Amino acid sequence: MIETTNNTLTDPYGRKIEYVRLSVTDQCDLRCFYCMPKGFKDYTEPENWLRFDEIERVINAFSELGTKRVRITGGEPLVRKNLPELVSRLNQITGIKDLSLSTNATRLSKHADALQIAGISRINVSLDTLQADKFKRITGGKLDKVMNGIMTAKRVGFHPIKINMVAMRGINDDEIEDMVAFCLEHDFTLRFIETMPMGNTGLEATNNYLDLKLVKQQIAESYELIPGTMPGGGPARYSQVAGTNLRIGFITPISQHFCETCNRVRLAVDGTLYMCLGQEDKFELRPLLRKGISDDELKQAIQYAITLKPERHEFNENPSQIIRFMSLTGG
Ligand code: SAM
Ligand code: SF4
Repeated sequence: MIETTNNTLTDPYGRKIEYVRLSVTDQCDLRCFYCMPKGFKDYTEPENWLRFDEIERVINAFSELGTKRVRITGGEPLVRKNLPELVSRLNQITGIKDLSLSTNATRLSKHADALQIAGISRINVSLDTLQADKFKRITGGKLDKVMNGIMTAKRVGFHPIKINMVAMRGINDDEIEDMVAFCLEHDFTLRFIETMPMGNTGLEATNNYLDLKLVKQQIAESYELIPGTMPGGGPARYSQVAGTNLRIGFITPISQHFCETCNRVRLAVDGTLYMCLGQEDKFELRPLLRKGISDDELKQAIQYAITLKPERHEFNENPSQIIRFMSLTGG
């Protein structure tokens, strides 16, 4: 174990790490084809899931090292039982100022209230299409459940609600303007994401790759776009539709990577810290936690892990390199 003195996390490239994506499960009730293959069941065994008290310890250690923001993700985070209880425990960690959730919304109508009471401040929902038959083809699930979930979150008062649409050539590029209209109508923020080649879904994702420059051009033909901003600290570059509150974010890991400003690491459900979505560098915390390391040793382990953070992903140079799925790493 290395000796460290200072209580912050800075990686070898001078980037301050202050954001944790926390995957609470690698399971999901949908099967978006670009994320998880149909029939995939090779999940982490429950005895290898970090327990809530272990997650709390790790996030507490991160917060003492300067992390202020945590996004809960997965897999589908709402598949993990008693999630609001975990949220409420994390919400009590003094240093954590922003607790957000990424969800597919299938179970949101049931849990939105409890999540808000527990301390979730912001919600991102994946929604690639507004057409039920297409939704079924992309995800294997039912659109009406998701719509119920989104509308419940709106009614409960979550704001902003960000809609994440993975933009795919030949799949949903005919719905760009419908999605803009939908988000305008409901006062949602809209974000487009480029497909990344992950796991053995990688090839399919690459086949449907769509450069978001084209999406932006398409929107600009119907709407006046002006520069926009949005709190959150993620990698999206925002525009705003003039004369409205609608902000549209473009997340371009492939056409314009944002590695030089990367401020995050990902904690998987089994306690592995992944340093980059597009590289294999990782550090396993679970064996140390279960061996009974002290809080100081835990902080030192995290500081050591951050020294492993690579400079950038290599999705373009080496698209078949990453064999784990997005659902495992915590997207
Ligand atoms: N299940 C939740 C959801 O769908 O929002 C949270 C986890 S999901 C892995 C997080 C995000 O990763 C989603 O917005 C999803 O669209 C995105 N994602 C998954 N696989 C991807 C891929 N190959 N390329 C780009 N984005 C991907
Ligand atoms: Fe599940 Fe989210 Fe992956 Fe879709 S993107 S399969 S909803 S984890």
